[in-house]
Amino acid sequence: MQCPKCDTQDCFLCSIAHAQGKTTTKTTGSTSGAYYGTNGNAGMISGSHTSTSTSLTAFGKKAAPPENPLGPAISFVALAIVSNMIVHGIWPHLNGLVTLIFLGGIGLSLWGLYAAIRDQPRFRNEKARWEQSWICARCGEIFLPPERASLAPQTPAAQPS
Ligand SMILES: [Zn+2]
Repeated sequence: MQCPKCDTQDCFLCSIAHAQGKTTTKTTGSTSGAYYGTNGNAGMISGSHTSTSTSLTAFGKKAAPPENPLGPAISFVALAIVSNMIVHGIWPHLNGLVTLIFLGGIGLSLWGLYAAIRDQPRFRNEKARWEQSWICARCGEIFLPPERASLAPQTPAAQPS
């Protein structure tokens, strides 16, 4: 798969790049250098190092699937109800205003839940699009393949050695 932006072949399916985020972030390099001793001897020294770069960890994050808004919405409703129960358990004789504020909080969280449910078709669209999307390892461009036909199973390019 070729990146439409920078023409490199270094592209991965987003789902693969996300799942293998940690392996793709690993970079192996080698360093070599010459040394000259004071007593006249000289030689070469070399070693290889493996490093995990945080900027490349961000690459795996960038390839992450869209988050379903339903998850946070449900936990927000649960949080509002539970905190309401706890506060009313501690202070059973709360004045009306505080109760009203808590009921408002529950109402708001329910409204958020409703919005998240209404948002599901958009989310499913985004998820389907993500499943077909590719990410460029060089410039980070996320793109859809030009033709569906080219979506044959492919494995990520071999690690540079
Ligand atoms: Zn690119």
